[in-house]
Amino acid sequence: MIFTQQSIKALAKEYYGLSGEVTALNGFDEQNFLLKDSDGKKYILKVATDEQGYEFLDLQVKILQHLSLYPNAENFQKPVLNKNGDALTIHQEDGKNYYIRILSYLEGTFWADGENYPDELFLDFGFFLGKMDCELQNFNHVPLQRRLLWDLSNSADANAKLHYIKDHEQRRIAAYFLLQFEMEVLPLIPSLRHAYIHNDVNDYNVLVSENKVSGVIDFGDTIYTALIHNLAIACTYAILHNDDPLKAASLIVKGYHQSYPLTEQEVDLLYYLIAARLCISVTQSAYNTAKQTDNAHHFLSEAPAWKLLQQLIKMNPLKAQESFRKACGFASVVNENDDYISLLEDRKKYIGRNLSISYAKPLKIVRGALQYLYDDKGNTFVDGVNNVSHVGHCHPTVVRAMQKQIAKLNTNTRYLNDNMIDYAKAITSLLPAKLSVCYFTNSGSEANDLAIRMSRHFTQQQDLIVLDHAYHGNSTVAIEMSPYKFDGKGGFVQKPYIHKTVSPDMYRGQFQYGDEDAGKKYATSVQEIIEQLHTNSKGVAAFICETILGVGGQIPLPENYLKEVYTHVRKAGGVCIADEVQVGFGRMGEAYWGFELQGVEPDIVVLGKPTGNGHPLAAVIVTNEIADSFNNGMEYFNTFGGNPVSMATGHAVLKVIEDEGLQKNALETGNHLMQLLKDLMQKYKIIGDVRGYGLFIGAELVTNRETKEPAVKEIDIIVEKMRERGFLLSTDGPLHNVIKIKPPMVFSKQNAEALAKNLDEVLKEFY
Ligand code: PMP
Repeated sequence: MIFTQQSIKALAKEYYGLSGEVTALNGFDEQNFLLKDSDGKKYILKVATDEQGYEFLDLQVKILQHLSLYPNAENFQKPVLNKNGDALTIHQEDGKNYYIRILSYLEGTFWADGENYPDELFLDFGFFLGKMDCELQNFNHVPLQRRLLWDLSNSADANAKLHYIKDHEQRRIAAYFLLQFEMEVLPLIPSLRHAYIHNDVNDYNVLVSENKVSGVIDFGDTIYTALIHNLAIACTYAILHNDDPLKAASLIVKGYHQSYPLTEQEVDLLYYLIAARLCISVTQSAYNTAKQTDNAHHFLSEAPAWKLLQQLIKMNPLKAQESFRKACGFASVVNENDDYISLLEDRKKYIGRNLSISYAKPLKIVRGALQYLYDDKGNTFVDGVNNVSHVGHCHPTVVRAMQKQIAKLNTNTRYLNDNMIDYAKAITSLLPAKLSVCYFTNSGSEANDLAIRMSRHFTQQQDLIVLDHAYHGNSTVAIEMSPYKFDGKGGFVQKPYIHKTVSPDMYRGQFQYGDEDAGKKYATSVQEIIEQLHTNSKGVAAFICETILGVGGQIPLPENYLKEVYTHVRKAGGVCIADEVQVGFGRMGEAYWGFELQGVEPDIVVLGKPTGNGHPLAAVIVTNEIADSFNNGMEYFNTFGGNPVSMATGHAVLKVIEDEGLQKNALETGNHLMQLLKDLMQKYKIIGDVRGYGLFIGAELVTNRETKEPAVKEIDIIVEKMRERGFLLSTDGPLHNVIKIKPPMVFSKQNAEALAKNLDEVLKEFY
């Protein structure tokens, strides 16, 4: 029942002999009142129910009584005893128990109601908290049977409420941090110092007076748990509205360590504990929204909590760890001056030497979080190029699916296995009906290699038509059909059974933008090759090309190009292979597959990079006829291909793309980014062309728009400068002058805007 001010007045008089004015106050799950006696002395009167429980309210009273034994007792509410000398009054009404407490009133304003606090206040807050925790270290109470969702040790419970978060990006971030909690924190909890802690030092439970913390109230969430949780929770709320949350939290940590020394292990967990507390809070808010709870108190921190989670995911955890360690005078974990000399030497010694390293100053990436990458120096990078981590680095749904399956079974495919069939059904349901038989491999190269073997078998021909500058992989056959490799450094003479057709480049090629027949005209080059083959009494085994040219320079195909080419090739009895290794799985935005943009259906589709979100999984998917002809008696067996872990992983990727609307995000964010880049093209002559689909974009740089002289020197400088600003981009194209943008599909509009803004600033130095 809801007590009125009038009834509370009567109860205060009856049980405590206190009379005065009563005013109702806010409360989370108790009813709170302000009581002012005739002398003007103020008290807080709290009414709880059996929902909170007697033992638990007793704990709160005992803890306050314990704290009142210490010199700073005036910073805590002191329980007022009733006429019987008890601090807890049991009042029965309507057959129910109501538990009444009267506590002394503390002066001060809520931390939440102030702003622009000086550094000293954060320090003082930490010091205050450390002292409080120190005083509680020998506090004891009978154990309570209570699993509190707000206990950070139970953070993983919040997973069950993730689905209440409707916004895909928000849900993904919370899920990511909950996964990290389980990986980084949970296993260590049993080894942490435990104690009774306040457990809810939030910004409405901390009082500030004259730039000092003057009190902490509301021990309603008190619990015996890991001691460090108290500091983590205090930091979380104290930095909620702060422009420099890490600095503010570090000051609190510093103050705490001064009054109650922390261990290195405790400090190292703070970043993920803060994130976990935010996750509990936001999942709880989402749950309350779903349940249409109207207590405004339940939503107080929702918006700032999301803002802080967004800030945290952009903050390299090492940076936070380092800052907290510094605050305590602990050893550093980051060496900002490491130039990796010995690592580079070892790499040269132990690893094949023709493996290049990106950037003039190499990066050592140690962790990934969705569209962000963290290096070992505490820096964060927005990943603008990694289309392998399609749904984001360490996407929690994918990671969990892999973990679960690898803990269960991983075998080869000669046993019956549901995972393989489930995935095959799922992936073929996304393809044209005629592409219905799957072969699973471990890399795009292997898949292309197999696709060629099947085509040759099917057609009984050897010859292949490929696009100039194309790349299809590193196996012997894949290299032979990759002009990007055999025409390049260390290359070899084109094999007689490989035939290059011109790249249908509408910016630089013979037929350019505005030529509506360009597709058809470029396709004639394929027809000429076929005719030449026929003249030599040969046929064509396959035509293979990417459905947007990747290594070839981020080039979308002209309209009708593949329609024409496929017609020519099929007429000659050849197989049409679409290499979707770079561009598939919704990246195009407008379509799930690149070939759909051309209105064609290939005979074989090759999938790679994004298929397993970084787990080595690729596929060749073919028509029934091709599959039947390949089944010629020689077994096709692949030790790893199609194993249950890969299949579970691939399936999780498909689910995430669907559940999180990532194709739509690719369309909207991609179009937005493309427009921002086109705006930059208006401003800077160095950008000669901007092109692409969805989140597969190229910007071609030229020193002269008329001659289209490639801006080769400039592009390297620009990419390096963008890296210094925290954006990873790369370069491609036969002339090495195309900025390649193909980020994880979770790339946001805000990422796009930040990227464009930084590129704008970098380009100012050019023309
Ligand atoms: N095809 C294309 C279009 C590619 O871009 C690549 C890799 N860059 C491959 C095939 C080969 O894939 P993998 O490196 O997985 O063997």
